Amino acid sequence: MTIDFFGVGMSTLVEAGERVLIFLPGETPGSVGDLLRMGLERKGAHPIPYGMVKDPFHALDVMEKEQADCLVGSPTQILSLARRWNPSHKAPRTILLSTDYVPAAIVSVLENTWGCKVFNHYGATEMGLGGGVECEAHRGFHLREADMFFEIVNPETGEPVPDGEYGEVVFSTLTRRGMPLLRYRMGDRSRFIVGECPCGTKLRTLEKVRGRFSGFVSVGDEILKLPDFDEALFSLSGLLNFSVTVSGSGEMKRCSLIRKCSQTKIPLVRWKRLSSRFHP
Ligand SMILES: [Zn+2]
Repeated sequence: MTIDFFGVGMSTLVEAGERVLIFLPGETPGSVGDLLRMGLERKGAHPIPYGMVKDPFHALDVMEKEQADCLVGSPTQILSLARRWNPSHKAPRTILLSTDYVPAAIVSVLENTWGCKVFNHYGATEMGLGGGVECEAHRGFHLREADMFFEIVNPETGEPVPDGEYGEVVFSTLTRRGMPLLRYRMGDRSRFIVGECPCGTKLRTLEKVRGRFSGFVSVGDEILKLPDFDEALFSLSGLLNFSVTVSGSGEMKRCSLIRKCSQTKIPLVRWKRLSSRFHP
């Protein structure tokens, strides 16, 4: 069923005969890359399993050699290719980002570098990997309702909230026999988008996830969440990835950033200004 979902979901991004380079784990039968490969083959596309990017320059060589029309991978891995891409090479037409929170700042870098269309995917291992995918309207994720029942609930009470209100995403499996899940808590904050999508789907639409109910720290008066760092930092040219460390306690609590950059240096002044927002 995941194979069918991937096939149908990818038909928004890929036309028959187009070449799709998959930067996801795919060596093991039943892995996400393997299921995606089968879904694409059913739709008449040409999947090229690659695996996770370890050497971006090798991945870029394969991308050019294979003349890839579409890339699928995690946001920071695809960003690492965009930062090092040679503009004389073929640019991908579409990109599907998955496996992680997708910062708008990264989407913007990819669109500006390649002039491509970027789509997000929402999923988790517990969903059988696929949960929802964006359409051309980019209003949110059209959910995989043939196999799963999604609800937005109040995280305190577990009660469903009215459509359009924010809460925690939970889902129940409808067709699974081996390990059914009931109201499985994702920890993600989002809401259903009300009203019809221009694409005409009858599926419900989940707004882009607005962070998690856990995974934040308070430093001084500020509540810091990872998506805030993502959006503030990934627009810096040359930034590939970063890590955040919180140390100390009480009034001595401090938040430090370690950055990983491509050869292009981030202008020091600009970095200091941004960094000072999180490192007073
Ligand atoms: Zn739509």
